[in-house]
Amino acid sequence: MRISRLLTKILCTCALAPLVITGLSAQSIPATKARLLDAIDGREQQLVAMSDEIWALAEVAFAETRSSKILADYAEGQGFSVRRGVSEMPTAFIAEYGSGSPIIGILGEFDALPGVSQRAVPEKSPLKPGAAGHGCGHNLFGVGSLAAAVAIKEAMERGEITGTVRFYGTPAEEKYFGKLYLARDGQFDDLDACLDWHPSDQTKTDVQSSLALVDFIVEFRGQAAHAAGDPWNGRSAADAMELMSAGINAYREHVRPSVRIHTHMQQAGSVVNVVPDYAKFWVRVRDSKREGMVPVWDRVKEIARGAAIMADVDYEITLVSGLHEVLVNRTGGTIMQSNLDLLGAIEYSEEEIAFAHGIQEATGKPRLGIDGSIHPLEATREHPGGASSDVGDVSWLVPEIRLGVTTAPIGTPWHSWAVVACGGMSIGHKGMLHASKALAMTMYDLFQNPKSLKAMRTEFEERRGDARYEAILPPTGPPIPEDGK
Ligand SMILES: [Zn+2]
Repeated sequence: MRISRLLTKILCTCALAPLVITGLSAQSIPATKARLLDAIDGREQQLVAMSDEIWALAEVAFAETRSSKILADYAEGQGFSVRRGVSEMPTAFIAEYGSGSPIIGILGEFDALPGVSQRAVPEKSPLKPGAAGHGCGHNLFGVGSLAAAVAIKEAMERGEITGTVRFYGTPAEEKYFGKLYLARDGQFDDLDACLDWHPSDQTKTDVQSSLALVDFIVEFRGQAAHAAGDPWNGRSAADAMELMSAGINAYREHVRPSVRIHTHMQQAGSVVNVVPDYAKFWVRVRDSKREGMVPVWDRVKEIARGAAIMADVDYEITLVSGLHEVLVNRTGGTIMQSNLDLLGAIEYSEEEIAFAHGIQEATGKPRLGIDGSIHPLEATREHPGGASSDVGDVSWLVPEIRLGVTTAPIGTPWHSWAVVACGGMSIGHKGMLHASKALAMTMYDLFQNPKSLKAMRTEFEERRGDARYEAILPPTGPPIPEDGK
């Protein structure tokens, strides 16, 4: 899911070594951090090749077998110890290097979206019609995060920093929310801090929350009958579903503006001359905070009950899963911002700008090009809007630093062929490498400065208050589909 928006400029307070990297930034980059950038630049070809391979595979949630293996094998080859198939998910893995504290985590995703297959060209042109594509840029996300962890490993080998760096290969963000199962199993509990990034059309530290959500299925069961011959013998499950839908639509007028309710009629009989005895309704409730979402969720369940009474059918509600909103950590965000400012803007060639214009023309957007600038740190909004992410759950367990980096032109429709196109060429690759550098520099600061970790923890505890994390999950799972085994 797509990340949200922006930032204020904080000047870097790091002690500066004499080495200056030209072409990156007007500011001096300390020698220690320059070596992190060298580690990433030195692997550029390998990293781009891995990203392109995962892009071409375009494996969807819990079917990311080869994509996960590419990343896990690379981590192992770089000297990380790798645990595969963690938390009962065959495509989840954890790669670790170093020992002792602090323990800094970094998240990577690699699942694709169904139906958005696309070649790396600026007009709609599926690689394979109907197939999946990386419409959220997760091919870049996983590789970019892992590269940052590898750069940190090298700094540990040089003896510059000590502790443990841990990369989380987190599957199925787009559908089943793989991080929930890792969170349920305590895989994040010993971290001192965690980082993640997400492809975007802007480059900025992400200090906005996301929406909490809950997904559940309502099944209605009635009595089939001939729709004309003896309809009085029928009790329609489809009627119940329609009544529930009408109830939700009336209720929309009375919820807070931050609430979103989505429905999907999944099944309601199969022919017109039979009273449907079965209907299946997928409902998703969101709000900017979990505490606001829960009463709406309860009310919608009551609407299901009412609909079942009116249609004289039975009903059953099954929880799929739910996400927490992101618990923002501005202390960590400020550290990220200082490194983004050090790195400076992403620069683009004429060919890349022409490609961006092509994408914008093809998607009906103004020809505004690409925004590679570093946005200032913005104020955290109370109700940010936008989407949801399973990173939210991680952020309730450990202070989380978030980043968005430009991998697509301004205004690109997300989860679309256009994002796939950019993620398979140099605009996406540049963003991935930039993200990797900002993440590595920020992790370096955390390893080097225990006070920053303490300050992040203090803010985390203040924001969390008395709330204790509990994953919104059914008792069983993860729901690995047959083709995901
Ligand atoms: Zn995403």
